[in-house]
Amino acid sequence: MVMGGTTLRTLTPHSEKYVRQRFAASLGRKIVFEIPLSRFRWPRIQLGTAPNPSNNGGPGNSGLGGSNLKIHEYQAKEILAKYGVAVPKGEMANTLEEAIEVTRLLFAEGASGVVVKAQIHAGGRGKGGGVKVAKTREDAELHAKNILGMQLVTHQTGPAGQKVQRLLVEETAAIDRELYLGIVLDRATGELVFMASQAGGMEIEEVAAKDPTAIFKESIDPAVGFGAWQARKLAFALGLKPTQINAAVTFFQSLYKAFMDTDASLIEINPFITTKDDKLFALDAKITFDDNALFRHAAIKALRDTAEEDPLEVEASKYALNYIKLDGSIACMVNGAGLAMATMDIIQYAGGSPANFLDVGGGATQEQIEHAFEILLSDANVKAIFINIFGGILRVDRLATGVVAAARNLNVKVPIVLRLEGTNVEEGRKILKESGLDFQVGATMKDAADLVVAAAAKVGA
Ligand code: GDP
Ligand code: MN
Repeated sequence: MVMGGTTLRTLTPHSEKYVRQRFAASLGRKIVFEIPLSRFRWPRIQLGTAPNPSNNGGPGNSGLGGSNLKIHEYQAKEILAKYGVAVPKGEMANTLEEAIEVTRLLFAEGASGVVVKAQIHAGGRGKGGGVKVAKTREDAELHAKNILGMQLVTHQTGPAGQKVQRLLVEETAAIDRELYLGIVLDRATGELVFMASQAGGMEIEEVAAKDPTAIFKESIDPAVGFGAWQARKLAFALGLKPTQINAAVTFFQSLYKAFMDTDASLIEINPFITTKDDKLFALDAKITFDDNALFRHAAIKALRDTAEEDPLEVEASKYALNYIKLDGSIACMVNGAGLAMATMDIIQYAGGSPANFLDVGGGATQEQIEHAFEILLSDANVKAIFINIFGGILRVDRLATGVVAAARNLNVKVPIVLRLEGTNVEEGRKILKESGLDFQVGATMKDAADLVVAAAAKVGA
């Protein structure tokens, strides 16, 4: 699709890799289905204009795939329960005392065991030691003590892990089978797909990669909705018992209704379980929401937990800057997503490595440019800044004035290299030259990239 007039079809492999990685990270997973990147709908960014309601501090501005609000498992289960989806009995706990109290209540109400689950915005908690089953209150307390506050590392958190600040304590279920359910938008067809697999519990990405036929899919015609016949087809494909089919159909339809009503972008139940006594439960639940619809879901918007997000990306979202932190040393400030992608590519091509993706948008104000600088500079890895602007809506002289003011106000010490083209470019160059500040201006994009890579190397040495 289109953003800032640039189609993604022109992406080179480098930038495509970044977007894919970040998109995957924003969903908290590797990409299961290879949806052509060109079909992704990019977050629409409006700077300095009347704001899109969903662009007011939502995490959507923080990234390419970041246009999806993530919530915790316990929150997802609360939402699903309202739609009649069966979830195990349990309660969220912020402290060890609360966890002990929830455990006491669950055992008092007849639970034969409890499961203590770390609540972080990432999957793979089980493997990482963030999900522990306990048969006694003492064991549950021990697990809660261990998990609460731990730095939980999973394949989705990165090596630094994520600090566990909340627990979910639930009654255990007598699991018979662990299955998988998911609803996601397939941008290639423009339709929602309801997915189901017998290979639940484990990493569904692996299943999708090794044996795609193990995932059953039903495409949902938006005009017709998710048919009971489709739910039944999936229930049979999962090999459910005849006595479970009707309950499964209701279960799947409730999931679909929850998805539609909440403007979700993804629902994933992994595992979806059957129990020894023939019941069905969502044992785990993940929901993400389309940021562009959050303005009509105040209650869901309030579920945002910024403690789970990258602090710099949270900061950027406050100023409607489209920022994604990366691992390199060259900070980028660019207008337009396509140009930002190209900038990351050319930095890489010149032998450097980008510290971020930052699209300041078409009409960035001086204030936004200053905030952008602040954010770039608070990344300790940054050794040089590359400002690559094509002056269209944002005239080059205005940008240059903003950059000079920001560099002065913030007393920027990091070398700044610019590449400027477009409206009023000569005036812009003049403003930079006359500022007395030490800017380097590249004649071409490649030239500027070489300059900034050299500048960063010099700082690093
Ligand atoms: P994830 O690893 O982050 O996806 O967390 P899950 O909620 O999916 O839990 C991981 C695994 O823990 C599940 O696949 C189950 O095998 C196991 N598990 C979770 N809850 C229970 C439970 O109540 N009883 C038992 N026996 N196992 C559970
Ligand atoms: Mn899971």
